[in-house]
Amino acid sequence: MRWLSRYLVVAPILELNQASKQLAGGDWEQTLSTQRRDELGELAHSFNEMATQIRASFQQLKAYSQTLEQKVQERTAELEHAKEHAENANQAKSEFLANMSHELRTPLNGILGYAQILKRSAAMDAKERHGINIIHQCGAHLLTLINDVLDLAKIEARKLELEPTEIHLPSVLKSIVEMCKVKADQKGIDFIYQCSPQLPDGVEADEKRLRQVLINLLGNGIKFTDSGSVTLGVEVLNRAETQVSLHFQVIDTGIGIAEADIQKLFQAFEQVGDRQKYIEGTGLGLAISQRIVGLMGGNIEVKSQLSEGSEFAFTVDLPLVETAAIPRGGDGIEQIMGYEGARKTLLVVDDRWENRAVFKNLLTPLGFDITEAENGQEAFEKLCSESPDLVIVDLLMPVMDGFEFLRQVRSDAALKSKTVIATSASVDQSQRQMALNQGGNDFLAKPIDSSALFKTIANHLNLTWTYRSESKLPISKVSEPSDQIILPESDVLQELLALVDNGDIQSLTQRAEQLSEVEPACRLFTQKVLGLAKGFRLQQLKDFLAQAASH
Ligand code: ADP
Repeated sequence: MRWLSRYLVVAPILELNQASKQLAGGDWEQTLSTQRRDELGELAHSFNEMATQIRASFQQLKAYSQTLEQKVQERTAELEHAKEHAENANQAKSEFLANMSHELRTPLNGILGYAQILKRSAAMDAKERHGINIIHQCGAHLLTLINDVLDLAKIEARKLELEPTEIHLPSVLKSIVEMCKVKADQKGIDFIYQCSPQLPDGVEADEKRLRQVLINLLGNGIKFTDSGSVTLGVEVLNRAETQVSLHFQVIDTGIGIAEADIQKLFQAFEQVGDRQKYIEGTGLGLAISQRIVGLMGGNIEVKSQLSEGSEFAFTVDLPLVETAAIPRGGDGIEQIMGYEGARKTLLVVDDRWENRAVFKNLLTPLGFDITEAENGQEAFEKLCSESPDLVIVDLLMPVMDGFEFLRQVRSDAALKSKTVIATSASVDQSQRQMALNQGGNDFLAKPIDSSALFKTIANHLNLTWTYRSESKLPISKVSEPSDQIILPESDVLQELLALVDNGDIQSLTQRAEQLSEVEPACRLFTQKVLGLAKGFRLQQLKDFLAQAASH
């Protein structure tokens, strides 16, 4: 009886248990005999149905997972491809920008170089000088725009890096303040500088970039403020042994920014609010400044109220340094007349004649003898035969480039101690580094800045400059006491008078603002004109201009 019950009940249950375990273990091919017509037969039937369903679901799942895997592989490949594509495009864009900038800088070297040469010429009347100032200013503006676009490209390619050096902070800030004060004066608004008495002297910072940020913020403050003031505040938040935490604030009482526009401010090419002001900028300044401050570990924050004014502020931590050299103020580069001691010969190597001409025309009047070469090979021969005191060599040239020239000079026993200054219009920092690694004594970026050129030459040749005496200055008008009103040329006065007569105050204001930029000497005159124009005191303005024109 026991055996029978075991055969009839227990055995099928054990069989079911076994099959279930195998099924759970992943063996899907389980079926039980369903011949019995009782509950156990029914149970076996249900088990078989369940196993079949599980089998089917598993097959489906397997197929689905295979498709998914394939899809993931496809998507990964697509993404990889897109990433590669984007990287190539970005690389191509960076290369294009670097090349384009090189191409643009080369002619600008001629324009800015000659503007600087002509500015130094004594034989020029005020009208010509005015024209040259405009050429110089427009060229310099173009250069700023090229640099801005490049900075942005570098930021996007994550190639913008800070180059911190030891700086004398109070002097750097003072020179920024002086520059901005002139601009604020021209607009008839106050410029206030509030600086903590605990401000350290020596800090480590990228001076060029710090200047760029502050000048952008202060320049905007002045640009968007027509009455009231612009304030630069520098506060010491915390001073530890090795570093200082500085809080910079630029506050203006200008047009302000609408709440909705504040988000857009830091996007490239965004200009918000009054469209009239657009012409004066590119909308790149804040985007670049924000990235630079970010690299310094800070963040520019904005508070603003329409028609009340704006406040831009950021905090950065800077390492303290023991002593930072105080830059010698007013190097009087414009007044350099020559140098003490024996006459020096310089070899200028550049494949473009206009570039050689810029060097020649800037340096010959100072008493240098200039000898020229069109490529490295010719330069090497001249270096042997003429033994110049210093060589200025372009890096990219046909036949033999500047790098190869440097390599050959440095491996020649007789020539290896010659001073060679490399120069290039390329913005690629690695070129500068490569030139220095190859043995260049210094590097000058093109377009050549005359003051940097003179300083570099004096430094390497140990020169002491001689200066024109103040009374002989051809531009002595500029340095006359500032309470005396200096008038512009009579044709400019006539032009302004005609604009008042026509009631065209907008053009008159624009012309006066332009004049104040290109002829800083006429600052008091333009201030007066702008003040009267803004107050719509047209009769007074007319009388003032008529009186000035009759002088
Ligand atoms: P840009 O001044 O060259 O146009 P910025 O990036 O420096 O470019 O500024 C972007 C825009 O932000 C400006 O065109 C202006 O609309 C707004 N803006 C910046 N600073 C101020 C300010 N102090 N007051 C009012 N608007 C400002």
